[in-house]
Amino acid sequence: MKLAANDRSLKSWVHVPKGSDFPIQNLPFGIFKTKYLSAVAGVAIGNHVLDLVYLHEHGYLDGLGLPPGIFNQKYLNDFLALGRRKGREVRERVSELLQHNNHELNAAAREIALVPMSEVQLLLPLRIPNYTDFYSSEEHATNVGSMFRDPKNALLPNWKHLPVGYHGRASSIVVSGTPIHRPKGQVKPPDAELPVYCPSRKLDFELEVAFATCTKTTLGTSLSARDAEESIFGLMLFNDWSARDIQQWEYVPLGPFLGKNFGSTLSPWIVTLDALEPFRTAGPEQFPHVLPYLSVEGNHHFDIALEVLLQAKGEAAVSVCRTNFKYLYWNMAQQLAHHTVNGCNIEVGDIYASGTISGPSPGSFGSLLELTWNGQRPLHVNGHQRTFLEDHDSVIMRGHAEKNGVRIGFGDCTGTILPAS
Ligand code: CA
Repeated sequence: MKLAANDRSLKSWVHVPKGSDFPIQNLPFGIFKTKYLSAVAGVAIGNHVLDLVYLHEHGYLDGLGLPPGIFNQKYLNDFLALGRRKGREVRERVSELLQHNNHELNAAAREIALVPMSEVQLLLPLRIPNYTDFYSSEEHATNVGSMFRDPKNALLPNWKHLPVGYHGRASSIVVSGTPIHRPKGQVKPPDAELPVYCPSRKLDFELEVAFATCTKTTLGTSLSARDAEESIFGLMLFNDWSARDIQQWEYVPLGPFLGKNFGSTLSPWIVTLDALEPFRTAGPEQFPHVLPYLSVEGNHHFDIALEVLLQAKGEAAVSVCRTNFKYLYWNMAQQLAHHTVNGCNIEVGDIYASGTISGPSPGSFGSLLELTWNGQRPLHVNGHQRTFLEDHDSVIMRGHAEKNGVRIGFGDCTGTILPAS
């Protein structure tokens, strides 16, 4: 699919610093507020946010058939509900308005419509009705299976036949920058006879990419793998914080619960699947062959470099993991087709996370559990040893796709650990 807004030769009259996540070819959507503005929708460009309410109210988006007040809201759900095609039309029009040879926005309009990033607070972009977490990295599932169960049978027999997932907790998803309290709960130390109640001692991050859906389906119907991407508006970075000690004691037989639902962090900008179109790539070969309902032609993986940095209080951030979204075994179309194959309905603004993304080499593992091999091989962070997260540690996740001089980034997904409350 050729999209004018993706043309790599485009330049904007807005200054975009070299290495910015937000060139004119990206134009992700988010929700922001300032000292003077209540929460409204905007688009990121360089170090600025373009106010979509201003553009809409002053006629710059006329002809797109947008409902009144669509951007003057706390969440983007109603905009997403207009569908991918409408989202594409808005992005294409915003691209036109920002191109260096376009003078529709005069100096006065530019002054009002563009807000410096340093003056805005970015908010959770969606009212999230449902959150599902997949487990789609073969390397991650193999590492965890080896540590928690049996290295010889690390992958369970179902793993290569279906994208394993579970229903997570939507209420505790927060936007990047929101601190997370160390969770307390039941754990059973290996040498103890009975469980104890205490703050988690094995607090971890999970590097994931999440997609948001833009359609509402009817209970009893399914999305085909072929059509599923029409229901995916865009992607965000996602940190699925995990308390390994709570998780290990509670997870049999029904899976993750309190070891996961105390908080998950989402990056603030929804990077559209349209902007990522040039970065499609093939995924790993799938063998054994999948059932027909999971079979999909063409490339449905995306080449997105991912990084995790760890920062102890008052010190410099240190990179601890570099990996790539393309390493996942299952793609998003397969995840969504599988999720709905039984008739489960999806809603606008749902979040579907990939599962921890680990690559083949130890430096590409997407959690401390794997990076330190359950605490046996501590990491060195500015002279400190780290097995799991300490109070006041910050975790910073970054991601970008880059090709032919165009860099499409996500902005930071960060969180700091506060002591147990
Ligand atoms: Ca997870």
